[in-house]
Amino acid sequence: RAKSAGRGVVEVFDDELRAELSARAELETALRRGLDGGELVLHYQPVLDLQTGRTRSVEALVRWQRPGHGLVPPDSFIPVAEASSLVCDLGRWALAEATAQLVRWDAEGGHRAGLDVAVNISGRHLAQAHLLDDVTDALTASGIAASRLTVEITETVLVDEPLALEHLRSLREIGVRVAIDDFGTGYTSIGQLSRLPVDVLKIDRSFVSSPEAGNGDLVRLLISAAHSFSLGVVAEGVEEDTQLSALLAASCDAAQGFLFARPVPADDLPAAAFAVDGAGRGARS
Ligand code: C2E
Ligand code: MG
Ligand code: MG
Ligand code: MG
Repeated sequence: RAKSAGRGVVEVFDDELRAELSARAELETALRRGLDGGELVLHYQPVLDLQTGRTRSVEALVRWQRPGHGLVPPDSFIPVAEASSLVCDLGRWALAEATAQLVRWDAEGGHRAGLDVAVNISGRHLAQAHLLDDVTDALTASGIAASRLTVEITETVLVDEPLALEHLRSLREIGVRVAIDDFGTGYTSIGQLSRLPVDVLKIDRSFVSSPEAGNGDLVRLLISAAHSFSLGVVAEGVEEDTQLSALLAASCDAAQGFLFARPVPADDLPAAAFAVDGAGRGARS
């Protein structure tokens, strides 16, 4: 009896696994078709320079306008894309699209001209030999200066992929900037920062927004450590004035978050800014 019950459990598990696998395969096929068919779109979120209070760059964030499903957020499909080379095709597309967008904004003039852009690149893509070609192709096709492009990599990638480090060094040699995304959620120690081929550290939203005691000290510590290694610091997920004040007091270089602007389509990008007074305190405007 126990035996047959056990077999039943295995069968149910099997069915669930089969269903899960076929759902993933279906999603992957739809995503592949969507990428080829122009269903993916980049939204852009302003990143503000905390010295001037003005938007200096934007982060490109992918969304999927999937017919019948509305606007699908990246967390629902990037993990599936990362299971195959699809995430590399997506990354190549995002690099080309984001650099082309800078050209369109430059031509348009006004508050969107002259911005820099950051593109998220998957660890899987970073480990591919063609990553460097994908970046240089995007720069050549657009004519955008390499220094206007930042590649964002999550910190776990640096631990997992030896080739990734090599590619980051090559990117920096041609003038592309490198940022570690979601810093603080992985296992990189502050000591390792001095040896990593990166220019910018992005402090994860959980440290910036969590009201837990001690996080303020941690953020201040991260900022001063990053500065001592000549890294710039961007705070992610800034939602409240009090967080902005704390970041200004800690000499953080840049910030992004819903306090200033949400990610929006290219044509809707606002002139996000806040007023900086002599004491270095900011007030949103
Ligand atoms: P990320 O690179 O850390 O991007 C920041 C995420 O935080 C974005 O979510 C953004 O909308 C969200 N965010 C910004 N400010 C705030 C805030 O004040 N409060 C809160 N609660 N959230 C805020 P999004 O757009 O859903 O992207 C999620 C993740 O998907 C990204 O995290 C990134 O890891 C990945 N991703 C997005 N676009 C791409 C892409 O083109 N390629 C790859 N490989 N990954 C991407
Ligand atoms: Mg990012
Ligand atoms: Mg992040
Ligand atoms: Mg993230």
